[in-house]
Amino acid sequence: MGLQSRGDRRKLVVGNWKMNGTRAANDRLLQAILSGWRPLQHVDAAICPPFVYLPQLAETLASSPLIVGAQSLNPRANGAFTGEISGEMLSDCGCHYVIVGHNERRRMQSESDLYVAEQFLAAQESGLTPILCVGESEQAREAGNALDAIGQQLRVVIEAAGLEAFSRAVVAYEPIWAVGTGKTATPEQAQEVHTFIRGQFGAQGNGLVILYGGSVKADNALSLFAEPDIDGALLGGASLNAEEFIAICQSAEQVATGMTQ
Ligand code: PEP
Repeated sequence: MGLQSRGDRRKLVVGNWKMNGTRAANDRLLQAILSGWRPLQHVDAAICPPFVYLPQLAETLASSPLIVGAQSLNPRANGAFTGEISGEMLSDCGCHYVIVGHNERRRMQSESDLYVAEQFLAAQESGLTPILCVGESEQAREAGNALDAIGQQLRVVIEAAGLEAFSRAVVAYEPIWAVGTGKTATPEQAQEVHTFIRGQFGAQGNGLVILYGGSVKADNALSLFAEPDIDGALLGGASLNAEEFIAICQSAEQVATGMTQ
């Protein structure tokens, strides 16, 4: 098979519900998404609820095109790790994706680059597709060090897992200053970082799906997705609103359809 061109990469939109939801609220949100859903040819869409709701989503979404993912995992296989969840458990509950290295966990749970690399490896060993989040702080961006910071986060995982492992992974660029703040990177800023990330993988980078995350909404998604190296989005707040989630998935479809024509 030849190298994949931009048009060969499927778009992907992933909703990270973070620590939100109840069984009843999840049901309402899922029913609203499913009733407004329009089929997508070029876009995969996934939802990552809190751990305890994974079986609920796996059951509700079983006969739908929506894919289930998790927000984190413990890299150990099993044992005396109170309160933790393994990759095997996530697979067992119907997960396909798992987010690793989200900046909220890097900061609040002190997850290091090495720990994130262990999670990435453990995810793949359990048959899950890791979504590796990388991104710079506001200080790093202001100091002109954004690419260095992102390069370092990527390097640790590449050294642990090898380049080939990224043929079964997704990378999400999430500038810390844009996540949950309402400030979005401009399409040009995001494109610059996505090009840099793709460049770290040599020829294999052509097939790598790279998402942008950071205050993506229905009204800015199209301009982000129009950039050649932005393959979709990792959504926080917007994934809790059915209309926004559907509209963002449709924007990805619209751009992808334009690309294939
Ligand atoms: C996120 O948490 O990954 C995220 C991108 O959040 P938000 O869309 O709310 O900025």
